[in-house]
Amino acid sequence: METNPCDKPINGKSPIQSKVSRYTKPDNTVVIVNGVQIGGSDIVIIAGPCAVESREQLFETARSVREAGANILRGGAFKPRSSPYSFQGLGEEGLKLLAQIRTETGLPIVTEVMDTRQVDMVASYTDILQVGSRNMQNFPLLKEVGISGKPVLLKRGMMSTIEEFLLAAEYILSQGNGQVILCERGIRTFETSTRNTLDLSAVPMLKRLTHLPVIVDPSHGTGLRWMVPPMAKAAIACGADGLIMEVHYNPEAALCDGHQSLSLAEFDFLMSDLEKIAFAIGRKIMAPKPSIV
Ligand code: PEP
Ligand code: MN
Repeated sequence: METNPCDKPINGKSPIQSKVSRYTKPDNTVVIVNGVQIGGSDIVIIAGPCAVESREQLFETARSVREAGANILRGGAFKPRSSPYSFQGLGEEGLKLLAQIRTETGLPIVTEVMDTRQVDMVASYTDILQVGSRNMQNFPLLKEVGISGKPVLLKRGMMSTIEEFLLAAEYILSQGNGQVILCERGIRTFETSTRNTLDLSAVPMLKRLTHLPVIVDPSHGTGLRWMVPPMAKAAIACGADGLIMEVHYNPEAALCDGHQSLSLAEFDFLMSDLEKIAFAIGRKIMAPKPSIV
């Protein structure tokens, strides 16, 4: 592979020595979750509520996003909230609901794990373990999800450089778990008009530096429902392997992140637009699994 000044040594070592590096492994890593390939030629869509709030909220939202073409269902049962008085998630009860709706819809599940003591429990319900932005440098947690052997969705720390992001992924790979998906979700800058500054330049940079799949979260990246569609399209245009988006059956009533959640109709509409962008760059949005109900 050609060299470039951006291809800096990682952690003072030659990129050749790091497991995340394209030098080590030139071919793209494809993470396969229940038949869904993340990092292959098709673009994967992950959608669902920020938090699992109730059976009705989760099930209605899940059925609708599946119908609209989502490939994987998201939903937090353990929520990292800025305030201890905000809704913290349903905990294990939420994981049970996720497992039930997986059986009905066939959609693989991604949900966040925040604590090393809960990795085994969360892993027993979910298909992908999410490590959130606030935990990207929780090194014991990174090691533990690495040991679990489950696919991991690693979100970029909101204050982290790309090098730190890759080193966090390296922690997981160093435990023998190569099933890691990177997610750009916005970083903190001086700008306050958006919740975060969605760093889409991270996408081509990461694709250059690492073989791991790269997805984008335009929901947390902007914090604004109306800005999710244009940034979702831009993410696909610049080479993301997938998107993770918050969708709620009644965003105004959401217990968490309603202002950045798409309604069911908005998500459905966006999906058809995404097809066009994918086509323009020679890719496809992954077809939904054939119905099993
Ligand atoms: C989430 O995806 O539910 C979440 C909390 O995101 P982040 O860790 O990127 O803030
Ligand atoms: Mn959220």
